[in-house]
Amino acid sequence: MIHLNELLSNPLETIPLTATIDSALCVGAGGSSGSLADKPIIHNARGQLLIPASQLKGRLRHECEKLARGLNWAVCESPNPQTMCPQRSHLKTKEDIAKSFEREDYRLDKRYHCLICQIFGNPVLPSQIIFEDLICTENPENIPEVIRPGVTLNRHRRTAEDKKLYFIETSPANAQLQFVGAIHLLPNYPIYTKPLILAGLQHIHALGGSKSAGLGWLHWKPLDIQIDEDAWCKLLPGELR
Ligand SMILES: [Zn+2]
Repeated sequence: MIHLNELLSNPLETIPLTATIDSALCVGAGGSSGSLADKPIIHNARGQLLIPASQLKGRLRHECEKLARGLNWAVCESPNPQTMCPQRSHLKTKEDIAKSFEREDYRLDKRYHCLICQIFGNPVLPSQIIFEDLICTENPENIPEVIRPGVTLNRHRRTAEDKKLYFIETSPANAQLQFVGAIHLLPNYPIYTKPLILAGLQHIHALGGSKSAGLGWLHWKPLDIQIDEDAWCKLLPGELR
């Protein structure tokens, strides 16, 4: 929970984000109404295209988990709550847990939460970072809707499957659309948060479905963020510092 007076005396730190889409963008869930396409792009109430905050958060968490494992951090397995902190039912014995999560700072609230959960949260621990939707800066009236047909391929037979033609709605190809948003850091975020999420962002090269069809490729505007040396050091396990 955030208290208003805490916010007023201590405004949130913000990481501004700008993504430029290098190919057509396909974002959205199937079955939404109001479009012919099976996978419409999401629009907000003002008609602007957007990439939902939840999608960005999920992808960034995934990339940060991969980096954390590469750094030999013990992290739980999202997104299934059973294998996430504090349950981690896949670790059977107390010894398993002790072996995997021996650092003191995993312990919060009398329960253990790995370093990724301490940033991104889990079903019982609130997230320390808040994501905004990434919103397209282009006036929606200047963006024509593009409907692309797709065909589901049967990998085994290497043929198109009968009746598996589908349609997806995308932004126009090569329009270099810019999407702008932000990540807000709550007071008391863990010290390694900024370097980890900045590194994780650099591993996100695409958002939205159909990456393999060449849709949704993007690059991030370079970030001008100060990170103190302590925070970088905290990323490394003790023996490498
Ligand atoms: Zn965890």
